[in-house]
Amino acid sequence: MNSFRTRLTLIIIAMTALSVTAAGFLMMKTFKDNHINALEDNMVREMHLIVNKMDWLAGEPEQQFDYYTEEAVELEGYTDARITFIREDGTVIGDSDYDVRKMDNHADRDEVKEALEKGIGQAVRSSDTAGESLIYVAIPYTQASGDTYVVRLAMTLEEVEGSIDQLTIVLIAGLWILCAVAALISYRIALSLTKPLEQITKVAKRIKNMDYRARVKTTKQDEIGELGNAINAMADSLQVQMSRIKQNESQLESVLANMINGVVMIDAGGQILLMNRRAEEVLGFSARELVGRHFAEAKQQYELAQIIQEALDTKEHLREEITFYFPEERLLELNLVQIRENEGGPFSGVLLVLQDVSAIRRLERMRSEFVANVSHELKTPIAAVKGFAETLLGGAVKDEETARAFLQIIFDESDRLNRLIGDILELSKIESRRVPLMFSPVEIDVFMNKTVTLLESEASRKRITIERDVESGLYLEADEDRLRQIMMNLLSNGINYTPEGGRVTIRIFAYGDDHVRIQICDSGIGIPKKDLPRIFERFYRVDKARSRSSGGTGLGLSIVKHLVELHKGTISVSSTVGVGTTFTIDLPVIQ
Ligand code: ATP
Ligand code: MG
Repeated sequence: MNSFRTRLTLIIIAMTALSVTAAGFLMMKTFKDNHINALEDNMVREMHLIVNKMDWLAGEPEQQFDYYTEEAVELEGYTDARITFIREDGTVIGDSDYDVRKMDNHADRDEVKEALEKGIGQAVRSSDTAGESLIYVAIPYTQASGDTYVVRLAMTLEEVEGSIDQLTIVLIAGLWILCAVAALISYRIALSLTKPLEQITKVAKRIKNMDYRARVKTTKQDEIGELGNAINAMADSLQVQMSRIKQNESQLESVLANMINGVVMIDAGGQILLMNRRAEEVLGFSARELVGRHFAEAKQQYELAQIIQEALDTKEHLREEITFYFPEERLLELNLVQIRENEGGPFSGVLLVLQDVSAIRRLERMRSEFVANVSHELKTPIAAVKGFAETLLGGAVKDEETARAFLQIIFDESDRLNRLIGDILELSKIESRRVPLMFSPVEIDVFMNKTVTLLESEASRKRITIERDVESGLYLEADEDRLRQIMMNLLSNGINYTPEGGRVTIRIFAYGDDHVRIQICDSGIGIPKKDLPRIFERFYRVDKARSRSSGGTGLGLSIVKHLVELHKGTISVSSTVGVGTTFTIDLPVIQ
């Protein structure tokens, strides 16, 4: 840009200098010519005067020398110019400045030849004798005797040349001033021309650096203004398109970022192009570590690298489940889908979709375990019923005492079976939330009185005292039947797992601003620490044999936990083996 400005300035200066120089030369030449012409006219006039007024002496040259030299010297006094008399044949017969006897023949002098031919002759040259620039003017004169003579005047051009020198100095000075002015003007012109160009370049650079708000300020509607407008239009359309692209990109990004599945994009060469947040979590590596690298370089499980390679080789949709041990143990379902830019287009890579199926598989496993447990639990009482019935049929029925004992066992076992099936149905109902809770205000005092009455006979059979420490006037919004189910389960556990003569304590009090805390303590056998986290699981019993003999199914606490959670409450347990167990329930007062 700058060089353009410099070039433009130099061109204008050069052109100015050239034209000024040419004009100067022309002026000098005209000046010189005019001056010489005027001088010549003057000299011709003087010569006409001379030739007409003087006395011409005829004769041989020898006789003429002195006379004409004298005449010449005299005339020089008037004319201030060298004067020469020449015969037609070129013999110089008189000269005001030189000795004619030593002078050569002048017939070949241009001015003499011209004078004889045309009646007037002129020449400018540096004189052989004087060595300076002279103007010579000559005219012929024919005497009465018929002889023709040439009279010649010579004047120095020193004066003319002096003026020309002066003129040259003035001209050069003027030239310099003109050039300076031209430089200034041309610089300004160049500036006015290049400045908008510079601005446009600056804007173009900003656009290149993705600053799409940059605009050219156009004022003039010339070609440069149009260029600015075109650039502005381009920036407008770029800005619109970029914002559209950005919007699309951010939409896609947020889709990717919020997907529950991990997504990893791998190009046909095996380079990882992209991975979303979920993929980072699942694989335990950040996108920064992996994107841009070959999948084989990423320190991943061998099976993963292998299946990616297979997908790249076969270019087919692959599906596999792999257990990952890093960053935590997980079962992942991998789907490798080929990427094609458009349908039927060339293969451009593989999209790896990772789905954590650990929870699904765990649920599936739990379900099948549950079915196995249920069948097992059902099989035991049925086997007992079947076994004792067979024995009775085999003859034992005749011994009344044995028969009665066996029938009692059959009755107990079928009762147990009945309870078990009832509990399973209950649990599945609660779990699937098929029965909605019927919330109503429950007056704790009254509610507890009724509940404890139901258990009194059972407690007194084991000589267990039930103590109550219930804050009076407490109300709770709950499903009363469900709440009773909770209390009955916990209290009967307390009675069941406490030796004879023990004690079960119920404490109920307001807890915090809006909660009621229910604590059920017993002085029973307690639960070992290792079993504590599991006692809320279905069918989980600490001592299988003893629990079964006490008629337990292992579903009670599981039901309790579900019911507490349906009331948006929490349940916890603390226990010391041989000392006793405490269950603590916190329920919100208002649902
Ligand atoms: P049921 O379904 O008839 O209630 P269960 O009492 O065996 O059978 P849960 O009430 O779920 O089943 O209790 C699970 C296990 O937790 C019990 O088998 C028992 O081992 C232990 N347990 C529960 N409550 C107590 C307690 N208060 N003291 C000691 N152990 C307890
Ligand atoms: Mg129980």
